[in-house]
Amino acid sequence: MASISFQNVTKSFGDFNAVSNATFEINDGEFICLLGPSGCGKTTSLRMIAGLETPTSGRIYIGDRDVTALHPRDRKISMVFQDYALYPHMNISDNISYPLKVRGENEATRGERAQEVADVLKIGHLLDRLPAQISGGQQQRTSLARALVNPSQVYLFDEPLSNLDAKLRLEARGFLHHLQHSMGMTSVYVTHDQAEAMALATRVAVMDQGRIVQFATPMEIYRKPATTFVANFVGNPPMNLLPVEAMVSDNVLKVRADGLEVADIPMQRSFAEAVAANPKITMGVRPEHLRATAEAENVVRGKLFANENMGAEKLVTIERPDAARFTARIFTDDDIILTEDVALGFSSKHITLFDADGNRLA
Ligand code: ATP
Repeated sequence: MASISFQNVTKSFGDFNAVSNATFEINDGEFICLLGPSGCGKTTSLRMIAGLETPTSGRIYIGDRDVTALHPRDRKISMVFQDYALYPHMNISDNISYPLKVRGENEATRGERAQEVADVLKIGHLLDRLPAQISGGQQQRTSLARALVNPSQVYLFDEPLSNLDAKLRLEARGFLHHLQHSMGMTSVYVTHDQAEAMALATRVAVMDQGRIVQFATPMEIYRKPATTFVANFVGNPPMNLLPVEAMVSDNVLKVRADGLEVADIPMQRSFAEAVAANPKITMGVRPEHLRATAEAENVVRGKLFANENMGAEKLVTIERPDAARFTARIFTDDDIILTEDVALGFSSKHITLFDADGNRLA
């Protein structure tokens, strides 16, 4: 296994920067998820680690080797693709052991190794079949087995679960987590699914328009999103964000918006000065921190918009006078009966504030 280091890496296509000045370190044995919306530069970053794209500027290291200009073949990496890329005319055993064939291993060794890895992945009984004769989930595991059969320093995954249905996807996610836990392989995993990133990663790199906007543990990203973009991207449903007018006096912040009652918020002097200079801030509260009650430190009011029953939890959405919606995620398997006017309560410790540029204040 090995660490990976990006140093001021930029990749341009013409005058468009798909990845802009990325600098980060991935430690040996970490599972890193590159998370972000379509087109933010995740796959391009992965392909640069694999050697399928060359950086326009900057350097990439695997361990202490500068691999920036190294051929993919010489990088000791394995990659799992979204479409599995299995050979349709080869049986599962030959598909799995293909990298060993390229390396010149004999048939007996190839067969043994394929069986070993396939057994671990619970597809050992399917080795004689063709890809078309097994399910999507089994094809996905075949593609994983092919990556694992060849010991590598780094494993790269490009949305490997995206072709699976919801149930198989969950199962495969648990399986990958188990694999990572037991093998401790250095992995970089591209996804636009925040739940997948939260579940699998030791740290998540959130990308927006070619830039890494936050690189932190899943819980840090969840609890302390660096920007409104991250707050809005991570969490399901995402954090409720409400533009508010702010007033600061004696390092105490008062926020105002129609239908909002919020207690005074004590503030560090440096933040207070920033807010005084630009009082258009955004207040954020996660759905799971709202309760269907006005008996709370703070309250947001609106008209009932939706009351969705998810079994063990309910999603209650209100629409505020400014048309902004607020969703509460309430953990109960009882029905929630609501009138047309709804008050949602929350505690001050669950408020996140962002400055006028969308950066987290406190
Ligand atoms: P997705 O989730 O849709 O795969 P992504 O975050 O992986 O998106 P990339 O594939 O890295 O995004 O692409 C980033 C940007 O670079 C996109 O705007 C894309 O159109 C552009 N891009 C990628 N490859 C090329 C290329 N070979 N030539 C020109 N532009 C490209």
